[in-house]
Amino acid sequence: MIALERQFLDDMKRLRSREPLALVLTMGEAFTLLANLQLALRHPANRGPSARGIALEFALRVQRYLAATPAIAAACQAGWEPGRGVQVRRCRACGCVEDAACPDDGTGRPCSWAEPDLCTACARRAAGGIGPGEKASDGAAQ
Ligand SMILES: [Zn+2]
Ligand SMILES: [Zn+2]
Repeated sequence: MIALERQFLDDMKRLRSREPLALVLTMGEAFTLLANLQLALRHPANRGPSARGIALEFALRVQRYLAATPAIAAACQAGWEPGRGVQVRRCRACGCVEDAACPDDGTGRPCSWAEPDLCTACARRAAGGIGPGEKASDGAAQ
């Protein structure tokens, strides 16, 4: 254990009896904090006891406080939807995505992006070259 970690643990133990941190939040601050906690808690790798324990309990407590009207309650609940706020970049022609690129046969490598929503394989096909799923045979690739 490095010295800073040991010091951290000593300090936490020594200051255990310190007056607790009291928070006063406006509705807006509470909602923003909840949304940020939900983002962290939606992360698939964030499954440890600290996330499932204090962070989730705190988020649910804030949510219960906020959910005073149906509209606000719905907005709070929507924050738990997986993938919310995560934009997946997708090719408009073949539907390939960043994590599942199609083979760009013109280059022999996975495709990349020719335009914000068009992969290089489809851009090549649109330009009359070799598209996804076709074989490079005659050196027509650029
Ligand atoms: Zn494509
Ligand atoms: Zn592609």
